Amino acid sequence: MSECLFCKIINDSVPAMFIYEDDDIVAFNDINPQAPVHILIVPKKHIPTVMDIEKNSVDLIGKIYLVAQRLSLEHGISEQGFRLVVNCNHDAGQEIFHIHFHLLGGRKMLWPPG
Ligand code: AMP
Ligand code: ZN
Repeated sequence: MSECLFCKIINDSVPAMFIYEDDDIVAFNDINPQAPVHILIVPKKHIPTVMDIEKNSVDLIGKIYLVAQRLSLEHGISEQGFRLVVNCNHDAGQEIFHIHFHLLGGRKMLWPPG
């Protein structure tokens, strides 16, 4: 767990500018943005992937959607629309194994995704 980049960001040993923080969740801009708005919403609890979510984290995962609502309003993308993406494991391209939700907006998205 000590090797996890997002745990280090949450513990302040790797710098990042939080644009949202509460007791359970942080959010910060993606270092390699794929849209005009590209924010990562990250629970402070180290959950590696969607497959590791347990029943006692259901409220926490639900709260992430409320943070996404709030950030989409604050960044002016709630009406035009946005995408909330969680990559899980290899085929989805997950690179950081601390669960995180990509909030993407500010441009038209393609479907199906690449
Ligand atoms: P995923 O492929 O879903 O695991 O997404 C990992 C995301 O983390 C990618 O979009 C990266 O650009 C982003 N990322 C990696 N390192 C950092 C960092 N130090 N600060 C912010 N975002 C990062
Ligand atoms: Zn972690």
